[in-house]
Amino acid sequence: MSADDPVAALRGAALRVTKQRVAVLTALGRHPHADVDLLGRVVRADLGSVSTQALYDVLTALAEARLVRRVETGPRARFELRGGDHDHVVCRSCEAIADVEPGTAAPRGLPPAHGFHIDETEVVHRGLCPSCRSGVQFP
Ligand SMILES: [Zn+2]
Ligand SMILES: [Zn+2]
Repeated sequence: MSADDPVAALRGAALRVTKQRVAVLTALGRHPHADVDLLGRVVRADLGSVSTQALYDVLTALAEARLVRRVETGPRARFELRGGDHDHVVCRSCEAIADVEPGTAAPRGLPPAHGFHIDETEVVHRGLCPSCRSGVQFP
């Protein structure tokens, strides 16, 4: 989806346009791979008080409408705007995350079909980022 026009994206997905949904989409446009804590801070700076439950409700609706993808990278779920099929690399130590073009980081195996029609493939590569590997800690 386009990050520039959350209202059009919501209408295109036949979702009601609400301030909270627009604020979450806008926040994700600025902060790809944000977790709920970060999204909460950004959205509350914009709208004032919004409960964490309300945020989860918005994220669930946006994910069901396939405007937002939930990235399962570990204990903290991250969220990003949908668009393009890409893999992720995640640092085991500091949870730094980055997008990877499919097929460029490691050879991919064939999907386990088991009679399924595969319409999405999500791959997470784990390792240590350069700063963790060199032992330098950034706040
Ligand atoms: Zn790291
Ligand atoms: Zn991503």
